[in-house]
Amino acid sequence: MPLVSMAPILKAARAGGYAVGAFNIVDYNSMLAVVQAAEELRSPVIVQTSVKTVVHWGHEALMGWVRETAGGSPVPVAVHLDHCKDVDFCLSCVEAGWTSVMIDASAHPFEENLAMTRRVVAAAAPAGVSVEAELGEIGGVEDDKAVADADASLADPDKAVEFCRDMGLAAFAPAIGTAHGVYKGEPKIAFDRLEEIANRTGLPIALHGGTGLSDEVFRRCISLGCAKINISTQLKYAFIDGFCDYHAEHAKYDPLAVIGAQFERVKREMGEKMKLFGSAGRASDVEVPSS
Ligand SMILES: [Zn+2]
Repeated sequence: MPLVSMAPILKAARAGGYAVGAFNIVDYNSMLAVVQAAEELRSPVIVQTSVKTVVHWGHEALMGWVRETAGGSPVPVAVHLDHCKDVDFCLSCVEAGWTSVMIDASAHPFEENLAMTRRVVAAAAPAGVSVEAELGEIGGVEDDKAVADADASLADPDKAVEFCRDMGLAAFAPAIGTAHGVYKGEPKIAFDRLEEIANRTGLPIALHGGTGLSDEVFRRCISLGCAKINISTQLKYAFIDGFCDYHAEHAKYDPLAVIGAQFERVKREMGEKMKLFGSAGRASDVEVPSS
């Protein structure tokens, strides 16, 4: 099937009470691993690219790989741009064939965030491209905020409702206490706030900072309305450990064997996430809009 936007994937997930993984691929090998895991498990999937990855490889190379690995896939695949702080860069990806983009203007004052998000939606919607936006401040674990500060950076439910009203978002990323990177202790997630925002906006919620959360926390977040779960750090670890572990064990300078081991590691670990999130076997839930 053709590539799809995130909208039908996340609508089906929210309705079905499961979540779809958005995996931050870094190259062709990791992209192929994610798509093949999804195909074997009959899972919808979101192939996610950071701005850094797009800048590294270039729009055309990445989209070429996407078309090759996922263009005729039997499962629904969306290609999504992660955390983009720049409206024009979002639009360059819309232009280049991404089916979904995230505008992250959360560092700006509320009204400015609203205006920047509107500009991206206005340009993306006519192209059938879905949009995710962020409210509050999803930090990195390295930020090490005091609890009072951490509470203050969470998304406010009233503001969330105002932000999402008539915006036409496919996914909403409110700050609920998760953070990017590797957690040092148990993260403090504001489940009540997540539940209230999910219920009052009615939108599929995107969970950022997914690496290192327990299975229990994932399940609870999904039951409260998270329909998209970002996995970035764990993929980076699988990618590098898959490579290094194989080399340490075999000590042969055989690039294709090392790349193969890396591929298998990424595929296995991301596939495990698809099973955990409940998206395995749900490919046919997604209603692909006829073009
Ligand atoms: Zn994020």
